[in-house]
Amino acid sequence: MGDWIGSSWVWGLQWRRHLFDWENEDVQALQHIIHQKGPKRDTTDGILWKNAVAVSYPTKDITDKLSESLVPSLPKSVASIVWQKFIPPRAKLIVWLANKERLKTGDLLVEKGIIPPQDANCPFCGMFLESNSHILFVCRFSWSAWMEIINWWGLSAPLHNQPSKFSIQWLGLVNRRSHKDIWTLTLGCVFWSLWYERNQIKFKRKTPNLHNFVLSLKIRIGIWAKEMMGSDICAPNVIHNGY
Ligand SMILES: [Zn+2]
Repeated sequence: MGDWIGSSWVWGLQWRRHLFDWENEDVQALQHIIHQKGPKRDTTDGILWKNAVAVSYPTKDITDKLSESLVPSLPKSVASIVWQKFIPPRAKLIVWLANKERLKTGDLLVEKGIIPPQDANCPFCGMFLESNSHILFVCRFSWSAWMEIINWWGLSAPLHNQPSKFSIQWLGLVNRRSHKDIWTLTLGCVFWSLWYERNQIKFKRKTPNLHNFVLSLKIRIGIWAKEMMGSDICAPNVIHNGY
């Protein structure tokens, strides 16, 4: 993690895997942040809540503070997904980035001069410039996958193709309390799976195959439901609008 050089601490970060080119910018940003801080010699570690007005705090106070800085401009119903305990952390991260439209898609990398335009097409269709909304919704591959999943649950609805508006509409499709958790989990699973599939095609040269993707998506939803909620999905057509 680092070493003392004289009286100064110098961070030395090591990574468990080789970094992609598009991750270098994040590494530089991280280094910029941590180089401003470091351990102090002859000082004992402790926890200090900087906004302290009392000795002890309710957990909610801390959660609200964290939520405020992590999800500053997301609609409340979308921001709440980030705190759901039954969605795996890796999926929460993708849901958050997707709803903020901050996934590092081709359009953003071209804009910053990191990759040339010819390398920025959508990995699913190969025809259009990749953007957050294209890779997640507008592309025929992605939209078909969402529709397959929504039909799988016996639902139908016109849905927006902008991430946070889509998420709000999606969450509003199911009102029955007992179904809301699995429905939210499904949203997180599709977001994460689309991004994972995109990376498999782009970096591991996997061939896009909608049928296989949807099949693996349904299996993954079942596994996540079992692992995270202890629920078995036996009959898929159990959710209906308004119930
Ligand atoms: Zn596409």
